[in-house]
Amino acid sequence: MDYEAVIGMEVHVELATKSKVFCGCSTNFHAPSNTNVCPVCLGMPGVLPVINKAAVDMSIAAGLALNCKISRWSKMDRKNYFYPDLAKNYQISQYDLPLCYEGSLEIPVNGTTKRIGITRAHLEEDTARNTHTIGGGDSGVDFNRCGVPLVEMVTEPDIRSAEEAFAYLTALKQILQYLGVSDCNMEEGSLRAEANISIRPVGQEKFGVKTEVKNVASFSGTQKAIDFEIARQKQVLSEGGTIVQETRGWDADRGVTFAQRTKESAHDYRYFPEPDLVPLSVDDAWETRIRESLPELPQARCARFVEQYGLSDYDARVLTSTRAMADYYEATVKAGATAKPAANWIMVDLQAMLVEAKHEISDCPVTPESLAEMIGLIENGTISGKIAKDMLPEMFSTGKGAKALVEASGNVQISDPDALAEIARHVIAANPGPVADFEAGKKQAMGFLVGQMMKATKGRGNPQLVNEILRKELGA
Ligand SMILES: [Zn+2]
Repeated sequence: MDYEAVIGMEVHVELATKSKVFCGCSTNFHAPSNTNVCPVCLGMPGVLPVINKAAVDMSIAAGLALNCKISRWSKMDRKNYFYPDLAKNYQISQYDLPLCYEGSLEIPVNGTTKRIGITRAHLEEDTARNTHTIGGGDSGVDFNRCGVPLVEMVTEPDIRSAEEAFAYLTALKQILQYLGVSDCNMEEGSLRAEANISIRPVGQEKFGVKTEVKNVASFSGTQKAIDFEIARQKQVLSEGGTIVQETRGWDADRGVTFAQRTKESAHDYRYFPEPDLVPLSVDDAWETRIRESLPELPQARCARFVEQYGLSDYDARVLTSTRAMADYYEATVKAGATAKPAANWIMVDLQAMLVEAKHEISDCPVTPESLAEMIGLIENGTISGKIAKDMLPEMFSTGKGAKALVEASGNVQISDPDALAEIARHVIAANPGPVADFEAGKKQAMGFLVGQMMKATKGRGNPQLVNEILRKELGA
């Protein structure tokens, strides 16, 4: 039987606020364990939470960027459960009235786009981090993370493959980073993705029983886990078995999912409205204020790059992959660089150096102005592209400008026709064999003679002039 996969994603993202969502404690990830704590986030009796407005603003921004409607009236709820990662035995979350709902995100699929429905995006608090020593039998709880604001974004079951899930996560992360609402650092746990996966015979409306895969450390790991889970479910059904609704973990080393616990239903959590917080009432003015503060989002910026700078779709996509890179590119063009060469230098040479040096483009030692100056020197014939290529690593390591380096080294391009003609005559005199070959019609001999010219000029001959003058001196 032919099956199709039905996948929904739940993504938790830690918001980049300075303080926690219901108290004034810092959200700094790198602080020593249990130093960012107070009676509120430790769940002491008698304390009262106060909502962090910046967290609400960021949640609204995320919702708007995901084309969601923003609730005029929503509320916080208590999700009750007993576990050492939450000292007050409930998590403040949102149940039936989320802040953002009915949105969508377009993802690229096989050269076209597909719309993934966003059911809801709601605000909640993160839990503490439990740590366990392997084999030692000791467990610890770090409450620094407890109360860090989270926005949870849930999709409709619109995703049909692991590749689509990967594309969704990539697009979502890109948008959230553009907004600046989260660093989306998976290694530090600021982005956590869970996939709900089921399969059904092709053509059947009714959903199959789903499993939920959590705690995967990367997008590529999520993609592999989904692929594995689809194959596993097919195997179970083809052998006449049934799928059990459960939460499954991902063993990256063995490349398999494994059962962790049977899935709770919402009623197990005994949700009820949080009595210590007033409902959230976002009026038109509030929503408008956030909407007007949104930056240009990746898809719009990519389209504009194609339109405004005449870039290919591919180049525009690479250059808008992060907001910092797009900003850098536009600053370079604004500083006077021509659009296409600027794109090439950034995507190829500069990018390679940044990767090698593990530098972010936002603190690239070569400033956009400096790169624009270098491109200008190539275009006015002062230096060749080759000289520029050799010079860029020095600009990168020293932070010096192109003009300053050229002046200091005297490494300018030789564009003086008389000087080049003189060198051409020497090269011709010294290479009678290749000259004879050229005169006998062997075109490749020209390449050899050009090479000799470049050698004689130590690579500084203006390539176009070298060719032209050599031909003239050969009488060709
Ligand atoms: Zn606190």
